[in-house]
Amino acid sequence: MDCIFCKIIKGEIPSTKVYEDENIISFLDIAPANKGHCLVMPKEHYETLIDAPEEILNYTLKVGKKIARAMSSSLGNDGFNVLINNNKSAGQLVPHMHIHVIPRFKGDGVRLDWTPKKYKDKEINDFAEKIKKFL
Ligand code: 5GP
Ligand code: ZN
Repeated sequence: MDCIFCKIIKGEIPSTKVYEDENIISFLDIAPANKGHCLVMPKEHYETLIDAPEEILNYTLKVGKKIARAMSSSLGNDGFNVLINNNKSAGQLVPHMHIHVIPRFKGDGVRLDWTPKKYKDKEINDFAEKIKKFL
């Protein structure tokens, strides 16, 4: 499989690691939103959040929290974003599920916002019903 993160995990491509254990790896993003931006992921290849088993997700988030805490103790950031892009339409460039942990500073100009859309009449309820049917 031609996955750049699998290659990093196997050591075929270099990375700047901050954490590694049997199941998880975290390294710095080469094109960071802010300096110190980390990626955290399972070593096993899962494409999206939906594909990864619960216990793997739980553990990935647990390590993500550890990274966020260490980042916030060391980089002087006021806050941080934790996010997962799933599939191309949502901006996923590398199809190996990973958590972004992005340090945030007041006025840093990083944009994660969107222009809110508006529901018509009771449309919000139709959306809730559609989703609930599959839960
Ligand atoms: P995505 O858009 O899939 O959620 O995020 C992929 C991230 O991986 C991007 O922020 C991108 O900068 C980063 N990235 C892509 N290729 C490499 C690489 O070879 N090494 C590292 N360290 N980061 C990468
Ligand atoms: Zn992979």
